[in-house]
Amino acid sequence: MAIDTKTVRLDPTASSEAATKDLVAAVSKHQLADLDVSKLTITLTDKPKPLTPPESLVFGKVMTDHMLVANFDPTTGWSSPEIKPYAPLTLDPTSSCFHYCPNVFEGMKAYLGSDGKPRLFRPKLNVARLATSAARVSLPPFDQDAMLKLIERLVVVDSRWIPAAPGYSMYIRPTIIGTRSSLGVAASDSAMIFIILTPSGPYFRTPEALSILATGESVRAWPGGTGGHKLGVNYSPGFLPQQIAAKQGYQQCLWLLGDTVTEAGAMNFFVILKRDDGDLDLVTPPLDGLILPGITRASCLALTAAHSPAHPLPEVSGRTRIHAHERPFTMAEVQSWVARGQLLEAFGVGTAVLVAPVGRIGYQGRDIDLPKYPGVLGPVGSSLWKMLVDIQTGRVQWDDWSVICQ
Ligand SMILES: *Cc1c(COP(=O)(O)O)cnc(C)c1O
Repeated sequence: MAIDTKTVRLDPTASSEAATKDLVAAVSKHQLADLDVSKLTITLTDKPKPLTPPESLVFGKVMTDHMLVANFDPTTGWSSPEIKPYAPLTLDPTSSCFHYCPNVFEGMKAYLGSDGKPRLFRPKLNVARLATSAARVSLPPFDQDAMLKLIERLVVVDSRWIPAAPGYSMYIRPTIIGTRSSLGVAASDSAMIFIILTPSGPYFRTPEALSILATGESVRAWPGGTGGHKLGVNYSPGFLPQQIAAKQGYQQCLWLLGDTVTEAGAMNFFVILKRDDGDLDLVTPPLDGLILPGITRASCLALTAAHSPAHPLPEVSGRTRIHAHERPFTMAEVQSWVARGQLLEAFGVGTAVLVAPVGRIGYQGRDIDLPKYPGVLGPVGSSLWKMLVDIQTGRVQWDDWSVICQ
């Protein structure tokens, strides 16, 4: 099914967009206070928690000692940001976030370099995406440089929580929620930013390739919808199909729109195909509004674009060219690639998993088995995984991708 990207654009006459524009104008005219790092106050806990041993970490269960909070008031703007001991929030039950869900978030990680310094990976892209997500649900804008500095400050305060073991890191969850206290169905003119941290290990514990179930009855994203933004509302409708897939023995859903492949769980999806001329094709769906514009996705595309005889990917011959295609493809195509032995690798990518190999796709009551590799990831997936880890931990310098927190 072809997707008309023209229908994906937002309606500029939508009142929520107009309201956001007014807010942007007000903040930029200094009528309202913007996020301001110089006003940051830090209150450290007097009861630091014992660290959890890395082996027993479960994703997102243990939070660090501190969090960062700032509130937006429609008459004054952003409050002074505070780093303070991690604690429950107190919110009015009428708060917009509980009813109409103007909630947006980011997922990023701090990695410990061999110099012991915490590093972020392309964090400006996360902050920019957070701003776009906020605008999409009419949450107030914020100074992006200030947001990034605040994230860095919080990471430094809780840096003892970043496990040093390879494959471990500290997951960062910057969140903005609508806090307007009124049941009236309208844009939230009040908001709260909170940033919380959790030490994290490898996302999938099994060193096996994933089994995923191609799911077309429930749809994750559609033209004109919100799949291209990191909004809370995009995720809970996926829980039931995900449970149904799990009952049938699959770890994730492969989200389809019609027969078109979109994403795998909360990962961008890539396939590697063998060409008749011996080169490789890398295919991933385009950013047409259905696909979350992943930073890992963008990084994998950039790293494969840089693959050359002089600087090959670690596990791919420099003589093999990799042709990247951001284009829609269908399950019918996947089936025919597999039947002809052309499909070499399939993997999902994202901050939490990095690169996760797919070994089996359930489709229309049958399983499509994909090629197996001794190291589980195939040569392209494994090369990308290694390069990303090396860049994230500062072992390899790549543009300005790795940023030391100060
Ligand atoms: C966050 C997310 C991704 C991955 O994005 P990264 O920036 O690489 O972490 C992919 N798909 C969905 C649906 C997501 O929510």
